[in-house]
Amino acid sequence: MAELDVGVVGAGFSGIYAVHAFLEAGLTVRAFEAGDGIGGTWYWNRYPGARCDVESKDYSYSFSPELEQEWSWSERYPAQPEVLRYLTFVAGKFGLWPHIQLGTRVTAASWDAGPACWTVTTGDGSTVTARFLVSAVGCLSQYQVPDLPGLGTFEGPWYHTARWPGGGVAFAGQRGGLVGTGAPGVQRAPQSAAAAAHLSVFQRTPSFAVPNRNRPWEESEELAFKAGYRAYRAQARESFLGVPVPGTGRPILGEPPEAVEAHLTERWRAGGGMPLLGAYTDVLVDRAANEVVAEFLRDRIRETVADPAVAELLCPRTYPVGAKRLCQSDDYYAMFNAGNVTLVDIRASPIESAYPGGIKTATDSYELDLLVFATGFDALTGALFAIDIRGADGAALRDEWAAGPKTFLGVAAHRFPNLFIVTGPGSPSVFSNMVLSIEQHVEWIRDFVRYLDAAGYTTAEATAAAQDAWTEHVTEVAYGTLFPLADSWYVGANIPGKPRVLTSYLGGCGPYRAKCDEVAAGGYQGFDLS
Ligand SMILES: Cc1cc2nc3c(=O)[nH]c(=O)nc-3n(C[C@H](O)[C@H](O)[C@H](O)COP(=O)(O)OP(=O)(O)OC[C@H]3O[C@@H](n4cnc5c(N)ncnc54)[C@H](O)[C@@H]3O)c2cc1C
Repeated sequence: MAELDVGVVGAGFSGIYAVHAFLEAGLTVRAFEAGDGIGGTWYWNRYPGARCDVESKDYSYSFSPELEQEWSWSERYPAQPEVLRYLTFVAGKFGLWPHIQLGTRVTAASWDAGPACWTVTTGDGSTVTARFLVSAVGCLSQYQVPDLPGLGTFEGPWYHTARWPGGGVAFAGQRGGLVGTGAPGVQRAPQSAAAAAHLSVFQRTPSFAVPNRNRPWEESEELAFKAGYRAYRAQARESFLGVPVPGTGRPILGEPPEAVEAHLTERWRAGGGMPLLGAYTDVLVDRAANEVVAEFLRDRIRETVADPAVAELLCPRTYPVGAKRLCQSDDYYAMFNAGNVTLVDIRASPIESAYPGGIKTATDSYELDLLVFATGFDALTGALFAIDIRGADGAALRDEWAAGPKTFLGVAAHRFPNLFIVTGPGSPSVFSNMVLSIEQHVEWIRDFVRYLDAAGYTTAEATAAAQDAWTEHVTEVAYGTLFPLADSWYVGANIPGKPRVLTSYLGGCGPYRAKCDEVAAGGYQGFDLS
């Protein structure tokens, strides 16, 4: 007899809600969290500037109307400390703390067909058994430090944005180096530049960044919005991105250019990335349509950045806008007008090594006192592969997915019975408002477990046929879009040797939910139940 009904790995948004949902279902559950606190992304990424780029009213749990009314967000886009406070509040309100084991890394998990349970091994060698194993390890939690020769000889401190020290980093008067210009780099840079004597920004590929137009959420606005929260949430659940984004419903290429310019300008002034990408129907599927938005955004860079050479270097040209994560910042481009910031083109002159006093590129040396890596994550599979997961007959997840992940609905994998992955590869995950996707997955998994228990089944395993068909569908949908054209972390291009596969479902949250519900309503077709 297993010690737990459900073992959960991770205590970010996913793990926290999973604990609550399984407790509500009357099951025994424990979450194992490597960190010394809950919150996941919002626990680890404490760098000043870390901020959500989905609005707070959307990036919050919807499962409890009471919570929804009780909690007040202070800003349109909440910063990291506020999201962390919110999750801490949720854990307290719903009595989840006793069911979360902090400071505990899961190192291995193996399936035992006899008793039909998982044995979960943690860092100190202890084991616990659970009938079901729920991975809540996060799509963006396995951070990456580049293999930089000589880094060990660098005399100053160095940091990764995803492991920012709680006590902060003293930039004042320092010559700082920032490597990486994806979302965390774009968020971190302006505050570093404001404090440092000098900041060198090492850029391999420029990002498109659109303004947030962040502002306080006024009480009157909040109260008015909250009055219609339930209806709004229902709309979000059926939407494409997990956020209702009103679009024109028309292709950009069929519109008069002046009308397009005026409409994009209106959305630009309002702020946020989703409204710009979602304005017209063809922007993410047609290269020429995409180029219209890309050029509009390049014009905004040129009109903000004073030095034309720097502005050109900041203009992305090698991929469609949106195909790499669209960054959001109110002050990134203007930062380059400060006299103490240098943009270093490491595409033209790659970083070769670190030395005691700084960084050497192919053509220059940069004297630095401290170094920040904003070099991102081994996304979607990294944290799963960091655990030695062994399924039926000892099958290793790392081997089964060596050529790219294969799942049924992004939530289950053939040969891994009773293992469920929250926002796994093959689900909308990083292409959505993730909190909404997390809730949908957790609730679907909870209902499946209830169904199995009620029917007296002990084991559920995705069939090979269902998995192959779903994985093929995910690929087909992806290749109907522009997303595969970018060398992004979405396709694993940031990790040397990783197979280049677009592993997220781009069919939209609403249709995806409908597909999951259909599988459930049909008695969980696509699973072998025993
Ligand atoms: C800087 C940043 C900004 C983001 N902004 C947005 C945004 O604006 N909108 C959006 O939708 N999404 C955003 N995301 C994505 C974000 O990761 C998700 O929205 C969400 O927080 C994911 O929650 P999670 O619980 O699934 O994963 P995480 O928050 O990553 O939590 C996973 C937890 O699992 C733990 N863990 C992993 N492996 C193990 C193990 N082996 N043993 C024990 N514990 C383990 C980790 O320590 C971590 O605490 C952002 C991500 C980053 C990094």
